[in-house]
Amino acid sequence: MIRLFLTPSPDFAAGAAVTLPPDQGRYLAGVMRLGAGDEVTLFNGRDGEWTARIADVGRKAVRLELIAQTRPQAVTQPLVLAIALIKRARLETVVEKATELGVSIIQPVITRRSNADHTNIERLRLIAQEAAEQTERLDVPDVLPVVKLDKWLDNGRFTGLIFPDEETTHETGAATMLDGLKSSQPGARPAILIGPEGGFDATERGILRARPDVIRVNLGPRILRADTAAISAMTLYQAALGDWR
Ligand code: SAH
Repeated sequence: MIRLFLTPSPDFAAGAAVTLPPDQGRYLAGVMRLGAGDEVTLFNGRDGEWTARIADVGRKAVRLELIAQTRPQAVTQPLVLAIALIKRARLETVVEKATELGVSIIQPVITRRSNADHTNIERLRLIAQEAAEQTERLDVPDVLPVVKLDKWLDNGRFTGLIFPDEETTHETGAATMLDGLKSSQPGARPAILIGPEGGFDATERGILRARPDVIRVNLGPRILRADTAAISAMTLYQAALGDWR
């Protein structure tokens, strides 16, 4: 059944009427050729997942009537992915994979060697929304506005900083991550930080290594592309400490 994230959204309740934004209305009626009486699944990030029936397909909007809740709202464990601005296509892949892998916040960062100093945040948000619909999440990760690395390090909201560092030789992945985060309190907001294709420069690396909240992990003996490293680190985290257990 087609699954759509509704935003902005009224609170969901049985019998309540919701009107789809024009682009979603066109998708249902135009592309998917659905009409009155057909059912879809809706979620809004707060009220769980609901079945809804198309009440009418107007020229301007598609109106739905909520039927019943099929899944209660689940709270996503906090996990931040801070990713340097890498090439657009690869960044878009990382946003899609981070959504599938259960990240709650995606923070694009500018580093001294990152490819760009801006990106199309609205496009990344749409990619996250579509990935959340497909992966059957009950929420969509927040894609935050781009920020410089040092500003994020000072003001970013996270409690432990997992730093996959290809220059780390002795530490390993899961064991280091487990040790480093074991002391994390409930309500912790661990962050994974992935550098750009050119890596962090010596100054950035020095700043990162000096932080008391940094956990340096090694993602194996090969140099991974930033997108591979992001996917590997998120997988490692979810398997070792996250919601894959
Ligand atoms: N400096 C590398 C390029 C960095 S790869 C080079 O010489 O080409 C981009 C990012 O992926 C790095 O900043 C790091 O965060 C991560 N990464 C890549 N391979 C890694 C590995 N084997 N272990 C840990 N992190 C890695």
